[in-house]
Amino acid sequence: TFTALMIEDEGGKPKASFRQMGIGDLPDHDVLVEVHYSTLNYKDGLAVSGKGRIARRLPMVAGIDIAGIVKESRSPDWKPGDKVVVNGWGLSETEWGGYARYQRLKPEWLTRLPDGFDLVEAMAIGTAGYTAALCVDALEDWGQIRPGSGEVLVTGAAGGVGSTAIALLAARGYAVTAATGRPETHDYLRSLGASAFVDRAVLAEKGAPLQKERWSGAVDTVGSQTLATVLSQARYGAAVTACGLAGGADLPATVLPHILRSVALLGIDSVMAPHAKRERAWARLARDLDRDALRAISRVEPMSLLPDLAGQIVAGQIRGRVVIDVSR
Ligand code: NAP
Repeated sequence: TFTALMIEDEGGKPKASFRQMGIGDLPDHDVLVEVHYSTLNYKDGLAVSGKGRIARRLPMVAGIDIAGIVKESRSPDWKPGDKVVVNGWGLSETEWGGYARYQRLKPEWLTRLPDGFDLVEAMAIGTAGYTAALCVDALEDWGQIRPGSGEVLVTGAAGGVGSTAIALLAARGYAVTAATGRPETHDYLRSLGASAFVDRAVLAEKGAPLQKERWSGAVDTVGSQTLATVLSQARYGAAVTACGLAGGADLPATVLPHILRSVALLGIDSVMAPHAKRERAWARLARDLDRDALRAISRVEPMSLLPDLAGQIVAGQIRGRVVIDVSR
């Protein structure tokens, strides 16, 4: 038997508890993976703390990320010993996820561990880091950011997506401005490559729909008024990626930046992203993410601490990335 973090129904509300289970309890998917590490993303925080309804059926093993080794496979694509990564694909929503020592998974959800990363590093990146790479890919595809062409803004800078986005953008030579509510993280963010700072409270204030043009591109993880302000400060032709809602799911904005300045709002989803986008994002991470930066961004914690850590990430108190060791 092994321990899993399950979300169960308790009086109509989702409640997380540690449960013992056996391999025979797992879903009947074709590949059995020994999970070595999972991670803590904002979405995991919502699921485990019960602050958000992530699981769409119960009981559910939470955890949207997996790094592990194939133990058994009924698929010709995978064989025992293969090192694999899984990000999203409905894990923790409709499919059992990574907070368990073993999991059975569909072959098409697995990505081969990219060369040069070990299992801990893969989870130091996790969904948050791979989403940051999707955002930078989208900004570069839009074509308006170039090194030397002005500031690129990252909001929610000290969080998992934000920290990784800063490191990836700085590695390509962009001038990165970090928006954070935690001044005590400035040294850390500077070490990742941020060269200027904005207080997140300033972006959260309602302002004019068209403000002084400043950002040649932006990665927003906060949503709500923050995203509206970023759009109103985007330079002519710039793109802003939206992947998160740490500040709220609303968007109190006008169309003016879009229709008068050709500003683009690019939506980013990591969960159902097709394989080609995933492979490109992981290739960027393998090429551009400095291993020292990755170490600075991340720490490993035992699964037994997940209930506490989940509360902390939802309260905005986690810096960078937390890797979860599911064996402890
Ligand atoms: P995280 O580590 O908790 O980072 C979020 C950061 O946002 C915090 O560190 C904080 O940064 C800032 N923040 C928190 N509450 C805020 C508030 N009320 N107002 C303004 N800023 C606030 O979370 P994450 O894992 O990086 O994820 C970031 C967001 O992206 C989440 O909303 C998550 O659900 C979303 N996400 C979406 C996808 C997708 O597929 N679309 C994938 C991954 C993540 P500072 O302390 O620096 O201010």
